[in-house]
Amino acid sequence: MKLRMMIGIWLVLLCAGCAQEETAATAEVYAMDTVMQLTAYGDDGQEAVNQAEKAIYALEQSLSRTIESSDVSQLNANGQAVLGDTALEVLTLALDYGALTQGAFSCTIAPVMDAWGFTTDVFQVPSQADLDTAMALLDDSQVDMGFDGVVTLGDGQSIDLGGIAKGYTSEMVAEMFQSYNLDHAMVSLGGNVYVQGGRTDGDPWRIGVQDPQNISTYAGILTLSDGFAITSGGYQRFFEEQGTTYHHIIDPSTGYPAQTGLLSVTVVSPDNGTLCDALSTALFVMGEDKAIDFWRSGVADFEMILLTDDNRAIVSQGLDGQFTVEEGYTYALCTKG
Ligand code: AMP
Ligand code: MG
Repeated sequence: MKLRMMIGIWLVLLCAGCAQEETAATAEVYAMDTVMQLTAYGDDGQEAVNQAEKAIYALEQSLSRTIESSDVSQLNANGQAVLGDTALEVLTLALDYGALTQGAFSCTIAPVMDAWGFTTDVFQVPSQADLDTAMALLDDSQVDMGFDGVVTLGDGQSIDLGGIAKGYTSEMVAEMFQSYNLDHAMVSLGGNVYVQGGRTDGDPWRIGVQDPQNISTYAGILTLSDGFAITSGGYQRFFEEQGTTYHHIIDPSTGYPAQTGLLSVTVVSPDNGTLCDALSTALFVMGEDKAIDFWRSGVADFEMILLTDDNRAIVSQGLDGQFTVEEGYTYALCTKG
């Protein structure tokens, strides 16, 4: 059995050409299984970065599935727990996005993630019996949000906020950054990017959207001055067994890694990082047609870039002119009509 895993830095900010007269406060933080980069320019830069670092660790302590004392771990271990405000808010949002995406996003996916070994990094293709047992526990409707922070799970259930936690964290960092006196900032939490105030030379930030088929290059460049750009893709975490690749974004309707012809989904919003994270995961599960229908339906306000396995970059109308493809990908504009 050949196991292989890759965790990378998926969206990279391209700084070539940045004027550097202004010095930046920077920090590299390792949290939530991810290398995170924080950069802030302005009078409060250092303070903003220091406070953001603390906030990230605090969020990890609450939302992690692997830290035993976290709110999420306590809930999973006991089936019931009084959650702190943060975990309560993220779980509420996760359930809301589950409903909005008609189950493509499901935080009760935890037992299925466990069955595949993604929680412990001891990867395996589960037997159908084990998968059936795990799948029987996947049901968001059994999560009972009681009063005063008391949450009760259905028998044997557990929750996994990994599909939304980093987006929520990026939004918390963004809110914090906005409360400081900063001129420009950027935050990259793995595939979760937040930018503020454009670059120091006055141009928008340039965000490289990684080519899932060759992760050392980009499929295209997104220009964005202020907002969130969050990417999900099967290439971000996977293992191989007997020549087949199994990745970490699971289709809740089958229990298997979603195979839809999409290689990655980037969701962009000016102000809602949590939405971007939940939807990048959900749209990846939905696949091209359903993702486009979902975008067109207008039930959520966002823009997207879908990279397909036949080398198209499907770009929603609101990003037209902001995304240029690199060689190897064809630009396909998606309009509301
Ligand atoms: P992301 O990188 O944001 O797409 O999140 C992937 C992570 O979300 C996985 O590692 C799991 O922890 C979790 N996850 C996997 N599939 C789903 C799903 N269908 N709905 C919600 N969370 C999921
Ligand atoms: Mg996500």
